[in-house]
Amino acid sequence: MISNSRAAHRDHDHERCQNAALAQARALCQHRSARLTPAREAVLHLIWHSHRPVGAYTLIEQLSAEQGHRVLPPTVYRALDFLLAQGLIHRIPSRNAFIGCPFPEVRHRNLFLLCRQCGAVAECSADTLDQAIATTAARAGFAVDGHNLEIDGLCQQCQ
Ligand SMILES: [Zn+2]
Ligand SMILES: [Zn+2]
Ligand SMILES: [Zn+2]
Repeated sequence: MISNSRAAHRDHDHERCQNAALAQARALCQHRSARLTPAREAVLHLIWHSHRPVGAYTLIEQLSAEQGHRVLPPTVYRALDFLLAQGLIHRIPSRNAFIGCPFPEVRHRNLFLLCRQCGAVAECSADTLDQAIATTAARAGFAVDGHNLEIDGLCQQCQ
């Protein structure tokens, strides 16, 4: 099981978190010969601003403010598509918002712990859960593409 639930706490050195994520993204893209353009990197940097998911419109506004001119929505949408395809971010369906992935180098299924108070999202993966889903689906004759499980509740800090 991999988890970043502890790292999602508010009182941690998030700048380190953010820098590590950006460094990891650069190394991974270089390794894959994928182009992490300045626009794509800027969007990833904004998403890693916190552990709370951020929507596309907010990203367009923040990027426009940062660059001092109106950034066109397709620029941000294309950057999001790239980051999703590289596994550097995930979309949280219920929020229609995006969150940085702390372990993009590992193939994984997603389990998100959503805190209803502070809005932080921690990402976990559980092999036993993946197996249970695969077995259940197989019994129903269903071919699984993937899953995005969202668990609502309160994080350790907000309890
Ligand atoms: Zn952090
Ligand atoms: Zn992930
Ligand atoms: Zn919380």
